[in-house]
Amino acid sequence: MMPVEEIRLTAKFRVDFTDVDEAAISEIYRLFAEYQGIVNELIEYAHLHKVTSFISLHHAKYRELRQRHPTLPSHYIVTACRYAGSVYKSFVELKKLGMCEREKPIFKGRAIWLDSTLFKLDIEGWRVSIIVHGGRWVTLRLLHGRYHDKFKGMKPGEARLVLRDDGSLYLNVVFRQAVMLPEVGADAKVIAVDVNENAIVYGNDDFIERFETNEGIIRTRYFLKRRRIQSRIRGRGLRARLLEKYKGRERNRIKEIYYKAVKRIIDKAKEIGAAVIVMEDLEVYKEDKGSKELNGRIHRWGYRRFQRILEYQAKLHGLNVKYVDPAYTSSLCPVCEGELDLSSNGRRLRKCQRCGLEEDRDVIAVKNLVKRYYEECMDAKTP
Ligand SMILES: [Zn+2]
Repeated sequence: MMPVEEIRLTAKFRVDFTDVDEAAISEIYRLFAEYQGIVNELIEYAHLHKVTSFISLHHAKYRELRQRHPTLPSHYIVTACRYAGSVYKSFVELKKLGMCEREKPIFKGRAIWLDSTLFKLDIEGWRVSIIVHGGRWVTLRLLHGRYHDKFKGMKPGEARLVLRDDGSLYLNVVFRQAVMLPEVGADAKVIAVDVNENAIVYGNDDFIERFETNEGIIRTRYFLKRRRIQSRIRGRGLRARLLEKYKGRERNRIKEIYYKAVKRIIDKAKEIGAAVIVMEDLEVYKEDKGSKELNGRIHRWGYRRFQRILEYQAKLHGLNVKYVDPAYTSSLCPVCEGELDLSSNGRRLRKCQRCGLEEDRDVIAVKNLVKRYYEECMDAKTP
């Protein structure tokens, strides 16, 4: 039997604003302004009371907001609570890593989170209806191309309505799609993936490849750039804007590199007929928060982001994803489990004290992840 898993796919539609009457457009603009105000108020509250959970926000603010916005359909307030909770949560996370300049989060993005009660998608007719003030519905036409056809017949979940700076309006709809993933066990071919500061290394016992990300170098470069801005730019507003801009650029730059690496890995998996992608289970590091140096935490934060992208894309391509316990994967020999020492032949090389194996530390990590995967398969079999 093939295990079924659900993945989320996002379809981006640009809203066709020609032929829309003025009244409808002003309803939509009003909705954006009001929603942004509500989300910001909720973020303010979250920040003041240090709450990140949707439930506490909803509990504390829903009633009051309902009374102050009586004609706004109530689910907008519900999604605003979820939105504010998630914005504040990631702000706290980034702040801890020193990756956010502002003292408190501001919701600048003009986006509205729509749950299934707030919009109706007619994908056959390429139209969306959105409920606005007073429970009226506004119907908008969606521009579409061949890429959108694959979403026909899929069930839409939630959506975001996004107003860009240039005035264009987008609808991003999340669809849920069931994917069949092969049942995998000890006989499956795998590719293990290890991520270090400047490279993504992947392979199995037959091959190892490296994808240079230079992530650490990029982060250092942006760090220096930001420090220059901090010391040279006097105006606080301009300084904050520049810092945010470079933060955003850094994030996008690294994300782009991650996507390239992911594509390379998936292509390779297909080429060799691998059915499983094996990665480190990073959850085991969650406990030692604060104890390790900041760089290590930033690295793990990026690592998790990479894992999420790879997992999603892998499943989309019918590959299974397994996370294994990474303990000792960098300190024990993948052949004989002897202890590894630094080699005198190079900074990156490790040497086994027992069998004499000498190998690059990244190669060792990958081979150990592969080994760990098969061990865990065997453990699962024996009762
Ligand atoms: Zn050994």
